[in-house]
Amino acid sequence: MIDFPRLPDSGIKVIVVGIGFAGLTAAIEAYRKGHSVLVLESFPTLKTLGDVISFGPNSGRIFRRWPGMDELLEPICHETNKILIKNWKGENILRQSWAEKERPYGKNYNGHRGAIHETMYKYALNIGIDIRLGHKVVDYFETETEAGVVANGERFVCDVVLAADGVRSRGRTIVLGCEDKPKSSGYAVYRAWFPAGNMAQDPDLAFLFEENDDLCTWIGPDVHFICATPIKGKEFSWVCTHKDDGDIEESWQTHAPLSEARKNLEGWDPVIHKIIDATPDPVIDWKLVYRDPLPTWISPKQRIALIGDAAHPFLPTSIQGASQAMEDGVTLALCLRRSGKSNVQEALRTFEALRYDRVRGAQKTGETTRDRWHKADWDAVKKNPKSMELQREEWILNFDAEEYAEKNYAATVAALEEKEATRKGDLPKAVSISA
Ligand SMILES: Cc1cc2nc3c(=O)[nH]c(=O)nc-3n(C[C@H](O)[C@H](O)[C@H](O)COP(=O)(O)OP(=O)(O)OC[C@H]3O[C@@H](n4cnc5c(N)ncnc54)[C@H](O)[C@@H]3O)c2cc1C
Repeated sequence: MIDFPRLPDSGIKVIVVGIGFAGLTAAIEAYRKGHSVLVLESFPTLKTLGDVISFGPNSGRIFRRWPGMDELLEPICHETNKILIKNWKGENILRQSWAEKERPYGKNYNGHRGAIHETMYKYALNIGIDIRLGHKVVDYFETETEAGVVANGERFVCDVVLAADGVRSRGRTIVLGCEDKPKSSGYAVYRAWFPAGNMAQDPDLAFLFEENDDLCTWIGPDVHFICATPIKGKEFSWVCTHKDDGDIEESWQTHAPLSEARKNLEGWDPVIHKIIDATPDPVIDWKLVYRDPLPTWISPKQRIALIGDAAHPFLPTSIQGASQAMEDGVTLALCLRRSGKSNVQEALRTFEALRYDRVRGAQKTGETTRDRWHKADWDAVKKNPKSMELQREEWILNFDAEEYAEKNYAATVAALEEKEATRKGDLPKAVSISA
């Protein structure tokens, strides 16, 4: 058992649905702030799914607030310091370094999603959080005084439900009052992670291993390919975003034969084809689901909140999906602490107001980078290679979600109250007379 510091009991009961990075962070942070927490997850057992995932300095600082977490992540994560950007023919465009600029913001963590996720899951169990696997939530409910969910034929009642149930969220239905189907972004991502074996000995591939753990990307018309050599070059990982009109109802684990990836990359740098030749067949083909921004993330009675991908899916080109999901959990736990049990609705309203514009801004960076890369005017790029840099924005990365929520809670509550008073004052006169 890890000795985990907690604030005194707040009396607030929180149910978290889903153990992705949003759900686990919300659970750990809610526990840390003294709330009681129950987590329900539909997977019957934990599987180490996924491949490469990145956490920027803004979420890295969240990990480091949890005693012992940095030490647990150290052997399985690496810091990314730079990226080599090439065009599809293999010509170097630029080398972008983010080490010097970003290091003062804090450490970033990159590694295998499954390994990081398993570490975080075990950490949550070790500090004493009640996580129940094999509990698929099939319904949500709320009244003025309580909220809850139904799973495995049982009703679980609490003060607040956090629906961290991912991009195909069921929690959305209660928040929106209607079913909101995910839509295709028009793109999918081939993904692979495998032992590098003797790839480093191939003279054409050796440059990828010279500074292990850093990234190399090739950009061409409506496709980009990024690879890394994690765990000090022992592993190889690549992702390739390509146009796709496939069925997005399929799960995360859809597979595609390598021949499909080869076809999408016909005429590209032979180095990429060597990488594909070394890759075990088939690869994951991850349909990039997207959603239009929701008008709200909280339910009509303000006791259920959507967090993480359930509220706001990100494109991988933002490199912020998991980080923003974690920031949600931190913010909500703090807001609940400030509101107290008798006023949890205030916490949910304030959470949304504190997060909405920041999240939308971060989401947009994924769209702009993808469009800059996929629709590049290569003559213009020659004159201005820096136009292909990945966006690494200080306002996103140099940010402490906990400190921000603490500082801005009272002012945000006041602003929301004023807005509500104005809205009530704006009621048509006829209504107030007849009332
Ligand atoms: C299996 C998997 C593999 C992934 N691999 C990668 C990767 O390699 N690289 C990368 O960048 N991103 C990956 N992602 C996405 C990434 O983890 C998320 O985009 C981001 O971290 C935000 O996480 P989240 O917690 O909001 O959602 P998610 O990570 O999607 O987590 C949602 C959780 O809710 C659970 N759930 C859903 N419905 C219910 C229900 N009705 N009842 C109970 N539980 C429910 C799901 O089983 C899941 O555990 C993966 C996601 C998944 C689910």
